[in-house]
Amino acid sequence: MNRTIDQYTVHYKGLKIGRHHFDFEVDDSFFEQFDEGEIKKGKINVSVELERHNLMLEFRFNIKGLVEVECDRCLDPFMLPISFKGDLFVKITENENVNDDEIWFISNNEHQVNLAQYIYESINLSLPLKRYHGISGTNESDCDPIMLNRLKLTKNNTINNSSSNGIDPRWEKLKDLQIDNNNTN
Ligand SMILES: [Zn+2]
Repeated sequence: MNRTIDQYTVHYKGLKIGRHHFDFEVDDSFFEQFDEGEIKKGKINVSVELERHNLMLEFRFNIKGLVEVECDRCLDPFMLPISFKGDLFVKITENENVNDDEIWFISNNEHQVNLAQYIYESINLSLPLKRYHGISGTNESDCDPIMLNRLKLTKNNTINNSSSNGIDPRWEKLKDLQIDNNNTN
């Protein structure tokens, strides 16, 4: 495990049964570790409450910050505020089990849990489907006006190119063919 990812490790074996609190910072170097992802930049605080039981760890996450995304309208990158709350249960067991999103299984031989993957996935889950200037308290007037105009022109051209009565020109042609067929019959 590299040093950046290693920072998000909780060494639970040394912790007493009961409640513990952790704070993690997520920055650009964090996202560099997940190079397949869309997010490249961000500044996020991850606050974690851990309740340690004998054979179970309950993590409660509160993730808040800013990530850089591309505006759907003007294609400019901008900082979007995100927030996410989620729970992760880690069971300590010798039985073979398959991890899912909210329940992980570790063996008693493992002394630590690394939370980087969970944090990364949670940040991605917190992203809205559409991202544009004006969403989540960002400024609509930050939309790049030159780009917006250019995109508007392209859109208008596409509309003008299609036939005036709104019917796809290919269908128009097909209709003519059908009429021809009828005439020959
Ligand atoms: Zn924009």
